Amino acid sequence: MSRTETPRRRISPARRALPEQQFLGIAIASGVAIGPAFGTREPPVEVARHKIAAADIEAEGARLEAAIAQSRKQLAKLRARLSLLPEDSQAEIGPLIDAYLRMLGPSRLIRGARRRIAEGLVTAETAVTEEADAIAAAILATPGDEGTGRRRRAEEVHEIARRLVRNLTRQPYQSFSGLPDGAVLIAEQLRPADVALLDPSRIAGVAAAIGGREGHTAVLLRALGIPSVLGAVGVAEAVRPGAVVIVDGTSGVVILDPSEESLAAARRSVAAFARERARLGRLRRLSAETLDGQQIELQANLELPRELPLIAQSGAAGIGLLRSEFLFMNREDLPDEDAQTDHYRTIVEAMAGDPVTIRVLDWGGEKELEAFTGGFMLMGPGEANPALGMRGIRLLLRRPELFEEQLAAILRAGVAGPVRILLPMVTSLAEVRAARETYERVVRRLRRRGERLPEPLPPLGIMIETPGAALAADTLAFEVDFFAIGTNDLAMYALAVDRSAADVAPLYDPLHPAVLRLVQFATEAALRTRRGVSVCGEMAADPRFTPLLVGLGLRSFSMNASAVPRVKQAVRGLRADDCARFAHRVMERGDPDEIRAMIEAFSRAEA
Ligand code: PEP
Ligand code: MG
Repeated sequence: MSRTETPRRRISPARRALPEQQFLGIAIASGVAIGPAFGTREPPVEVARHKIAAADIEAEGARLEAAIAQSRKQLAKLRARLSLLPEDSQAEIGPLIDAYLRMLGPSRLIRGARRRIAEGLVTAETAVTEEADAIAAAILATPGDEGTGRRRRAEEVHEIARRLVRNLTRQPYQSFSGLPDGAVLIAEQLRPADVALLDPSRIAGVAAAIGGREGHTAVLLRALGIPSVLGAVGVAEAVRPGAVVIVDGTSGVVILDPSEESLAAARRSVAAFARERARLGRLRRLSAETLDGQQIELQANLELPRELPLIAQSGAAGIGLLRSEFLFMNREDLPDEDAQTDHYRTIVEAMAGDPVTIRVLDWGGEKELEAFTGGFMLMGPGEANPALGMRGIRLLLRRPELFEEQLAAILRAGVAGPVRILLPMVTSLAEVRAARETYERVVRRLRRRGERLPEPLPPLGIMIETPGAALAADTLAFEVDFFAIGTNDLAMYALAVDRSAADVAPLYDPLHPAVLRLVQFATEAALRTRRGVSVCGEMAADPRFTPLLVGLGLRSFSMNASAVPRVKQAVRGLRADDCARFAHRVMERGDPDEIRAMIEAFSRAEA
């Protein structure tokens, strides 16, 4: 998606005199953004200093007591959930929670805050912030202690004060509300949960030093259509707030303080991108059919409800992958069954009869466990191999009450329109069986409760995103209703390359024959057993890969909404039998670069 330059921020002659600086990163979401830079390291908005009347001292004190009680409750809940975390993280967070709970007792912080309310006549949030600042300053000034230890203690005081202020002001866990309209966000690193807070209508582009092509941060940025570059090392240190920056999400280049020529070229790209988008938009109502009459199902992935209008504009025939993680992001508690039902029902209703495949929670790995850690970011390495740890279906089977609530919510929402249930990170038959048992138990419970359920019951499918599942697909197929091939994780696990790491990004190659053979094996197993099969990883969104995937027998793809028109255009120029012959030739090759060259040549010939 392209963005225009913010008219309010013209470049001053003084800025123009600076030499431009270029950073090459990984192109994540296409489009070019031009705007003023906003660094995430800029200080957060201060709590405004508000005075109160003497008559309000008691009420203000009561507000403080309520915030203390709420903070204690949050920390106690977190303590109860600690056993879910890897041992290293438990060892790190456990003592921290104890320290925070002590600070919420009759501590200097709380005594001082109460005194400031009564004597200084300030609001509770001002009192807490000022007292915390004073304590932290005193800690830092204490002689004879190691600097890092003092800094850590001072930061702990600030952290508990932030929690109290958050509870006093009901502020969200984190917010980018200070971001000026049309700004380009520059960060060292953005977590998926941070991206979920960005408003694509207000932000022009994103550049970050850390991050790989297929990580969840990248997936979300593409979903929101924000021109983005990740892995642009050095960009966060170099940026000055307000400096003009160009982010080219197609080439992966970030330019700080661009020259007149670079600016003119970027403006031309913005215009060209807008023209191309308008052209592709006209494909919306045309069918996704090959020249020889094969219908191809093109659906959208949804990671955030705010994508619904984009999905409607894209012409997608339903949602092939609803990543339900958004419900658990940026919050310290877990959504209950009713809240989840409302979310799913709203989405199912918006799709007006088109199918919605809802994937149950795929938490863990690089998707952070914030809802389980009560807002603590794990500072240390945590699990040595988080991607191989407590993730997806493993976590759900460990936490049956969480799994059951989500299944119940999906079943109830399924009355409003066709839904399917998808299990993430499956590796074994035992997991499928345990999940099906849970599903049946939930159905019985809802029936006893007198709930209306969809008839027939929603199909239960699995992600094929581990080599284990792909190579066992022929046996798994007998126990599930459909497969959704997740090429993002499949490539990561097959090639042992972290999908969200920039330094090994060149090794992450879905065209590696190992990945293609896994896709082929799983697809053939599904076709033989007449199970539905789709691809919902990022591979599905690249029109250059469409002929190969169609040639392997795939007829269903789910992708970020903005990719649907491009893939549809590719489909409409193909003959399925040519694709089959082409796939046969590709599958005989062992060199990914050679395969890439064949794919490029095939796409050019078909265009
Ligand atoms: C995948 O792994 O390909 C996939 C679609 O799931 P996610 O990107 O959410 O891990
Ligand atoms: Mg996955």
